Amino acid sequence: MLRTPSPSPFSPLTRRRAVIAGGFAIAALGGTVSRHAVAQERVLNLYSSRHYSTDQALYDNFTRQTGIRINRIEADADPLIERMRAEGANSPADLFISVDAGRIERARAAGLLQPVASRVLDAAVPAHLRDPQGHWFGFSKRARIAVVAKGRAAPEEAASYEALAAPRLKGRVVIRSSTNVYNQSLTGAMLAAHGDAKTEAWCRGLVANFARPPRGGDSDQIKAVAAGEADIGVCNTYYLANLIRSRSEADRAVAAKVVAVFPNQQDRGTHINISGGGVTASARNREAAIRFLEYLVSPEAQAYFADGNSEYPVVEGVKPSSVLADLGAFREDPLNAQVYAANNARALQIMDRAGWK
Ligand code: FE
Repeated sequence: MLRTPSPSPFSPLTRRRAVIAGGFAIAALGGTVSRHAVAQERVLNLYSSRHYSTDQALYDNFTRQTGIRINRIEADADPLIERMRAEGANSPADLFISVDAGRIERARAAGLLQPVASRVLDAAVPAHLRDPQGHWFGFSKRARIAVVAKGRAAPEEAASYEALAAPRLKGRVVIRSSTNVYNQSLTGAMLAAHGDAKTEAWCRGLVANFARPPRGGDSDQIKAVAAGEADIGVCNTYYLANLIRSRSEADRAVAAKVVAVFPNQQDRGTHINISGGGVTASARNREAAIRFLEYLVSPEAQAYFADGNSEYPVVEGVKPSSVLADLGAFREDPLNAQVYAANNARALQIMDRAGWK
């Protein structure tokens, strides 16, 4: 289950050994020199559900700039949250990184994150893309868009999320399962816009329009549209962008068969999710964790970090990749990510009731 990319994964046991070794150093050398030496051993223990190989250079560059070594444990967000919960105050994690607001808000609600006051982060990260109390900050963003089959559906048919539930689309829409957190966040945003009853009606309309029971990831929805199984699909922008820039000719052929549509341009804007991070409640290397978050919003890191997975930078003035730029500028829903993320559990109940498998 756990993916440990580095050959030297850390564990509570090795941490304890390091502390003991430090104690011996103090006993052997005595006084301020050894304490200084211990203070110089700067590490950052990172629990991350990002697993894009392109991120490695970013971590290396941080270590080069700051001398802070990064111990990284990579796994899906829920197992990482469970692990932090089980480890409690003894957790070695200093920083938790998630690829969606729903999971990171879940970590905050479980008391696993601590608030951070950073002028750098507050200035760099737009207010709607971070927790108002500073428990987490978004540092790249993705839009949840519709892809429409060229020649089989008109972009206007996907002009809004609401439109995807219209009876005229019966049997023509694909979207992944309700267990998927991106869909829970999207439905959480619908809850914020419309309340429970209308959101449930929307879910029922959408389910009635399914071309097939939900299966696969976002890329599979795009492929289903390209293959003619459906006329309209829903995906995050980076899945489409990664097909467009893929080295595989088959992937590029899939992307060429669809048109990207940014929903709700005439009203509240397209739903945005984030990849974000927060300092853990148990952090022993708090300063290093904050420094890493601040590093991630530097313009170079922003461009690199976002582009690695075809995401949009969050910092104003940092340009997205050419692939994303080609998808066009669009209006974003300014709803705070914390609000829809906190709605996730209620959203899932409604999706279940509506028969969204
Ligand atoms: Fe994803």
